[in-house]
Amino acid sequence: MRIAVTSDIHSNIEALTAVLADAERDAPLDGVWATGDLVGYGADPGPVLAALRARGVTAVAGNHDLAATGGMDTDDFNAQAAAAAHWTAGALSPDEADWIRTLPLVLTVGDFTLVHGSIRDPAWEYLLDARQAEEQFARQTTRYSVVGHSHLPFWFEEDGDGRAWPQRAAAGRRLDLGASRLIINPGSVGQPRDGDARASYVLYDDRAAVLEWRRVAYDIAAAQRKIIDAGLPRFLAERLSVGR
Ligand code: ZN
Repeated sequence: MRIAVTSDIHSNIEALTAVLADAERDAPLDGVWATGDLVGYGADPGPVLAALRARGVTAVAGNHDLAATGGMDTDDFNAQAAAAAHWTAGALSPDEADWIRTLPLVLTVGDFTLVHGSIRDPAWEYLLDARQAEEQFARQTTRYSVVGHSHLPFWFEEDGDGRAWPQRAAAGRRLDLGASRLIINPGSVGQPRDGDARASYVLYDDRAAVLEWRRVAYDIAAAQRKIIDAGLPRFLAERLSVGR
């Protein structure tokens, strides 16, 4: 089974299309996972949802998905994020919004738990440090978990004492799956924030038991033009060039 493990697509159809093409370059995909923030920030929520639903995506909701569909208010969002959430709410069809509302916050699939932030606080917590990783491992009933939200590609590997350290996942990094428990972040498809503007995702091959962090160039200029033409905050277009 080959799975494209994605997060934080953020209504960026150019990035998602490039990621799916990259994942299918060598062999067909058997599935797509998405750990939340399918929409928000970008200008193409409809095409992103259509592409994911056509592939029978396995997804959980993120804070932007909730904010765009009435599941969370935007009081704690910064101004650009709140503006994007309101724009997205107006851009979604009733059917698209209803579909987003069906997404769970935490989902178990095989050996993996999928969640946007953390199991402790699914929509909001930025899981970044060792203590948070230990809290996650204490709640994690599966061997592995996938998180998003920070838009940073990394993993934590639990040692024998239940401790773990964050390790940044460079492009092309391969990780063999063994006995130790992991928390992984595939990075962001639609709005990377680690200084690399290319779309980030993980290709999971269950037969080879390997995870591979991949980076994919995409048509950033096209995504930026649509954001500006839609009247979304200019900053949301500009940041795509620098991956911040
Ligand atoms: Zn996000």
